[in-house]
Amino acid sequence: MTRELHSFPGGLQMPTFKTLSDQEMSILHPLPERLILPLQQHIGIPSQPCVSIGDKVLKGQTIARAFGYVSVPMHASTSGKIIDIGDYPVPHPSELKAPCIVIESDGEDKLFDIRPTNEYASVDPKELQDVIRECGIIGLGGAGFPAHVKLNEGVENAVDTLIINGVECEPYITCDDRLIQEKASYVVAGTRMIRHAVQAKHCVIAVEEDMPAAYAELEKLIDDDIELVKVPTRYPAGGEKQLIQVLTGKEVPSGGLPIHAGIVMHNVATAAAVFRAVTRGEPVISRYVTVTGLVEKSRNLQVLLGTTVKDCIKACNFEADENCRVILGGPMMGMHVTNPDVPVIKTTNCILVQENIPRLPEMPCIRCGNCVDVCPVNLLPQQLYWFAKTDNTEASQRHHIFDCIECGCCSYVCPSNIPLVQYYRYGKSQIAAEERRRDGADHASARFAARNERLQKDEREKQSVKEEKRIANQKEDKQSYINAAVERSKAKRALNKKTLEDTNKDD
Ligand code: SF4
Ligand code: SF4
Repeated sequence: MTRELHSFPGGLQMPTFKTLSDQEMSILHPLPERLILPLQQHIGIPSQPCVSIGDKVLKGQTIARAFGYVSVPMHASTSGKIIDIGDYPVPHPSELKAPCIVIESDGEDKLFDIRPTNEYASVDPKELQDVIRECGIIGLGGAGFPAHVKLNEGVENAVDTLIINGVECEPYITCDDRLIQEKASYVVAGTRMIRHAVQAKHCVIAVEEDMPAAYAELEKLIDDDIELVKVPTRYPAGGEKQLIQVLTGKEVPSGGLPIHAGIVMHNVATAAAVFRAVTRGEPVISRYVTVTGLVEKSRNLQVLLGTTVKDCIKACNFEADENCRVILGGPMMGMHVTNPDVPVIKTTNCILVQENIPRLPEMPCIRCGNCVDVCPVNLLPQQLYWFAKTDNTEASQRHHIFDCIECGCCSYVCPSNIPLVQYYRYGKSQIAAEERRRDGADHASARFAARNERLQKDEREKQSVKEEKRIANQKEDKQSYINAAVERSKAKRALNKKTLEDTNKDD
């Protein structure tokens, strides 16, 4: 039976530029001399190094351990020597440096002793989650959320449907499309493993209508246990909440999670990584990356994590200079980086090189309402813009700024060239800062109260010691007084006796 598809509000039809890079087989990027591996490549707590400078490591060896539940370990992308553990430029909007482990390759690419898991269907779902975690698997679609956390939600709640998301809706990006075409068996087997890990009743793999080759490869491999669905090409159909709405007609409520609708969603690349982890014990140390835009040869590369963005661009016959700008991700949601020495990390799906054209000047909002029409989550973008601009955090929250998925549809259609998403990011950061300040203030007032309490206690103790001393002194004084009186009385009696004796002698 064909699944009935639904729609989501807003969205955009736009040129996709996917044929630039989706026509040819991906190629392996050559082994770099040096790999820079940031300790934070996922949402959550950064991993903690378990190697030291000078250590020799093998490909796939754990070099940093997970720290806390929402964290994953990190593994060496090749064999070689740890030459530094320190701060390096990383892919982050702040462009600040962050802690990294640097490996100098020995050129041998020698593999660590990694082990597969037994036949997955006989393994307890919880154990499967541990395998997935130990292999450092996170949401490889770009979200970067540790996969085991989402799987655990599935074990602890009844899961109706597992959705494997192959809807690569952002223009230019084709890494999932090529991965499916080249490794469809990994995606399908990984999907079955994830389904076992969350014990889902139903399972759907979704791709976009403009991915016919990928669809055909999947179709060859699936049975009745998996439903394969083509969804209309419309941005941002691959967004988590939008895809759920298209496939099920269910709306995940504001602030809610897919699991609240009985759904768990993972990306196709995550499914392929799960297959590798379970059947071969392979951790996440490489990924498909689309390199496209101005480069001479747009294509997909299989890149070892830690390879620099500059090297990937070079591999596509291009030298990035000040006349171009480099975006990690797509043109709608990607992150502009000025330093091409940043490394490819687990969430880097695309390197887009564009001409560095100055942005058109921002003009006042003319209340045209275009932004409202395209918002896929039914927000009021122009209102949110105004609240963010005027630091009205209370109104921003009331108008659900945190439901904004930063898809960029509103900025794309704004005739006044207002960089709306930047305003929303600023608005969200202001709210987060306020919360931190409030938490800090609560913490400070708790500390102040504790300090007062401690000082009062000290004072009470001091007073009680003083009082005890005073009473003891008083007792001592009284005793001395009595003793002195007794002594005085004895002396007087002795004197009287002597006087009496002397008087008797004289008589
Ligand atoms: S699209 Fe731009 S100009 Fe039009 S209402 Fe929205 S913010 Fe204002
Ligand atoms: S960026 Fe946010 S406000 Fe703008 S269209 Fe997307 S979800 Fe709506």
